[in-house]
Amino acid sequence: MARLILPCQASNLSKNCLLGLVSYAPLQASCRFGSVGHSAKNICKYRQYFSTEVNYWRNHRFPYNSLPGTKKVSQRLICSVATESLAKQFEEPKMDTPKEIFLKDYKQPDYFFDTVDLKFSLGEEKTIVCSEIAVYPRVEGCSAPLVLDGVDLKLISIKIDGKELKEEDFSSESRHLIVRSPPSGKFTLQIVTEIYPQKNTSLEGLYKTSGNFCTQCEAEGFRKITFYQDRPDIMAKYTSRIEADKSLYPVLLSNGNLIEQGDLEGGKHYTLWEDPFKKPCYLFALVAGQLESRDDTFITRSGRKVSLRIWTPAQDLPKTAHAMYSLKAAMKWDEDVFGLQYDLDLFNIVAVPDFNMGAMENKSLNIFNSKLVLASPETATDADYAAILGVIGHEYFHNWTGNRVTCRDWFQLSLKEGLTVFRDQEFSSDMGSRTVKRIADVSKLRTYQFPQDAGPMAHPVRPHSYIKMDNFYTGKFRFYIF
Ligand SMILES: [Zn+2]
Repeated sequence: MARLILPCQASNLSKNCLLGLVSYAPLQASCRFGSVGHSAKNICKYRQYFSTEVNYWRNHRFPYNSLPGTKKVSQRLICSVATESLAKQFEEPKMDTPKEIFLKDYKQPDYFFDTVDLKFSLGEEKTIVCSEIAVYPRVEGCSAPLVLDGVDLKLISIKIDGKELKEEDFSSESRHLIVRSPPSGKFTLQIVTEIYPQKNTSLEGLYKTSGNFCTQCEAEGFRKITFYQDRPDIMAKYTSRIEADKSLYPVLLSNGNLIEQGDLEGGKHYTLWEDPFKKPCYLFALVAGQLESRDDTFITRSGRKVSLRIWTPAQDLPKTAHAMYSLKAAMKWDEDVFGLQYDLDLFNIVAVPDFNMGAMENKSLNIFNSKLVLASPETATDADYAAILGVIGHEYFHNWTGNRVTCRDWFQLSLKEGLTVFRDQEFSSDMGSRTVKRIADVSKLRTYQFPQDAGPMAHPVRPHSYIKMDNFYTGKFRFYIF
């Protein structure tokens, strides 16, 4: 995940660096390699690769020898979200006392999830979420209660192996649903919930903004979609079926490969997605709306043809050429430098103007704030182009460092972020000037991280406890990696 720093939050930073969190070394058409062990053979390979991009370079105002990022940012991003009050049943949720989570208290879960089949019926008033989860106990014969996280959810039904649970079989608190004594072996848990994305102003879980449905589940947003063990060590294979009005939401996206789509009665349509790799729920994503795509393909080293699509509102599509270039460069670089190939047939990027998190590495469905994707020669600076390259690379590189190899718990956040930042810094260094890139990164540390470490937000790279995980997405995890 990459945070977006708005100018109002980082006025000093904006003088020197457009975004603060992303790379901004100037790119050069012929790659330079620094001192970290890249061979002459690799340099040739890159030159060959980039020779195919010559037309692109000729037609775009990019890259140059000028120093990056001297232009002060004057635009401010405007986030528009639903502001209606919550449905009555959620107007006054019980307020829990904030609970401190300690690393020393980590325990393996009593139950694991094998497969998760989700079905979303997206509506204008409410959305119905059906989940069917194959559950198995960590220890055969376990009779511990199954504790599920859930926030702002209306429970419609809960079944085990097709049988409705009686009231005495479960209990619900403001943030948990507890199945008191589940079966001792494998079982299927079916839960139907009702949620209100139009009224979700937290921008976590599933929310609607500017006419589109969108998700953000890292760190703990999935519990706002359905009842679940919302922790990274619960890894499962997902399918997602999305149903919605076809004219309002012609594009329905989720993780994995698209395996089925079609029309339904009443002007609706559906898509069915299957992600063959186990993942934690913080990587789940859904997008539905009026979007158009720039399409391209990438052939992996082993010959897999991968469809690449960058989705934006129609008017933004012409500004996605550099993002597509950046994605292909990142895919190639990860193969050449780390030997890591993309593992699915489809890779989607969605760029929408009101995505709060900056950028998010959901498996095969990266979601970005438009600011980190769109660029046109008329308005974008060199720093903008370099920032887009860095952050598109960063989210793509998470496919292995974070997604396929993931965290046990949120205390390990620095592992996935630190390693992936290292990879995106190496990528930007190889694409541009290693020296300039390093100076820029150290400058960011000095202007952004040092003051933070001198203030009340100071914390170790791996904290011993936290109350709200969101507070830990700071520069420390992203810069202190050497
Ligand atoms: Zn990240």
